[in-house]
Amino acid sequence: MSELLSQLWTPEMQAAFTVVLVLLVILYVLSIVWVVRDAYLRGTAWYIWAVVSLVPVLGVIAYCLLRPPLLQLDKDEQELEIALKQRQLMKYGECAACGYPVEADFVLCPNCHTQLKNLCMRCNHALEPSWTVCPYCATPVGAPAASSGSRPRRSGPSGSRRSSGGAQQ
Ligand SMILES: [Zn+2]
Ligand SMILES: [Zn+2]
Repeated sequence: MSELLSQLWTPEMQAAFTVVLVLLVILYVLSIVWVVRDAYLRGTAWYIWAVVSLVPVLGVIAYCLLRPPLLQLDKDEQELEIALKQRQLMKYGECAACGYPVEADFVLCPNCHTQLKNLCMRCNHALEPSWTVCPYCATPVGAPAASSGSRPRRSGPSGSRRSSGGAQQ
């Protein structure tokens, strides 16, 4: 028996066995590293998966079957994208009457012609409906424009006095 073993256990066999063993150990360590890294990137409890991956082949297979589908990086990117869209919606907004997308400085809805903003009577700037005074020219909202026509001021008496003086001379 020992003769047969020593016949089989040649130096070549020993070398081949060592190489295979080293390769297996490297593969095993790499699989653990991969599981831990992947679980960490996916935002799961990586330390639990590290323990699971210590089970030589089954651990990695179990992780491949049960790992969460989305990478944490992708999740962050998606959240950023959603936040960006929300910000764009805030900038553009919608018509209160028909829901048509309108920009922040639109005065009328281009779709249903609903008035979205007031216009200053004097400087024609677009004003928020809640504003009671124009911040650009300090005109109260709803006040008539500055040209209020009839002025009661007259310079009649002084002119007549001067003319009468001229007549006296
Ligand atoms: Zn509209
Ligand atoms: Zn104004």
